[in-house]
Amino acid sequence: MDGSFRIGRLFGIPVMIHFTFLLIIPIFAWLIGTDISYTVSMVSDLFHIQIDDQLITQGYIPYLLGFVIACGLFLGVFIHELAHSLIARRAGITINSITLLFFGGVASIDDRETDPRVEFWMALAGPAMSLVLGLISAALLYATPFLFNDPAIAGMVMYTCGYLAILNILLFIFNLLPAFPMDGGRVLRAYLALRMPLHKATSIASTVGKGFAVIFGLIGLVIFSPILILIAFFIYIGAGQESDVTRYKFLLRDVTTKEIMSRPVISVQPGMPLTEVISLMYQTKHLGFPVIDRGYLAGIITLDDLSRVSSIDRDAMQVKDTMTSDVITLTPDAPVFDALRIMTEYNIGRIPVIENGSVIGIITKSDIFTVMELREM
Ligand SMILES: [Zn+2]
Repeated sequence: MDGSFRIGRLFGIPVMIHFTFLLIIPIFAWLIGTDISYTVSMVSDLFHIQIDDQLITQGYIPYLLGFVIACGLFLGVFIHELAHSLIARRAGITINSITLLFFGGVASIDDRETDPRVEFWMALAGPAMSLVLGLISAALLYATPFLFNDPAIAGMVMYTCGYLAILNILLFIFNLLPAFPMDGGRVLRAYLALRMPLHKATSIASTVGKGFAVIFGLIGLVIFSPILILIAFFIYIGAGQESDVTRYKFLLRDVTTKEIMSRPVISVQPGMPLTEVISLMYQTKHLGFPVIDRGYLAGIITLDDLSRVSSIDRDAMQVKDTMTSDVITLTPDAPVFDALRIMTEYNIGRIPVIENGSVIGIITKSDIFTVMELREM
């Protein structure tokens, strides 16, 4: 993810921090510090305890405690992600990284088809860990009076533990809501996927997820909570994307590149004038051609490459002057889903198919979508 940097490895998993995360810690510290007397009474009411607040409300201490709580919250989020990752890894799934962002953590897990039974436990592990952390924090709160003699210091520790207990238990509840792609939604999808094909289960879970996103968004608007609106937005987008990806994967399963590539390939030579390429585009209605030099692929030229050149220069230029020479290629046996993933990732419309060094076909995004439409029927 852009804007992330690596801070180390834990259990062999790279741990990344996104720069927005560094901004949110001081903001949280400030927010918590500002209305500390309110949250002190909230913690003492919820846990039925007396908190000595002599030190808590003095000078900079509210902000210092705010900082400790903010760091504790994100440590909790990190351990939550780690729980998902370790369960996934035990099932043989690769964990690319864990990234801490301003709204929480994201574990980047290899998205190969996951067994619903594995996904069920994997999704459940995170919220379960949050619950455990919440209970540990609450236990520490009750143990504090026995550990510290000074009631003012004990008060600070109890407040911090109590606040963290509440936050972790909120994380537990919030993540278990069946709002796909949040954890609860993944649990729901895994449950459904044991009873129906994965793409159907995903589609139902993502519809439920979108419903929750709309509800969150409306509540966010009514109570004017920008964070809730943002979360609603992420859930809505995430649910749609994941549902599309699973559907494409299902429709394109066991289709290889050679089955749907176009052949023979219309290609051009590096020395062809650009004006000729344009008339070839009009003739063939193709918007890109591989460039072949003495039998080998030298590059690819597309409408995008042509439109980068001004129309005056086009008259004097040849294919080799503006073609893209760094070409991504596929083998005939590559799954078509990979082709679609690469096209989406690099924002390209066509990929040449190569066998023994020569171009044997070309696969385009519109061909892939046509095949999906046909298979959907
Ligand atoms: Zn989670």
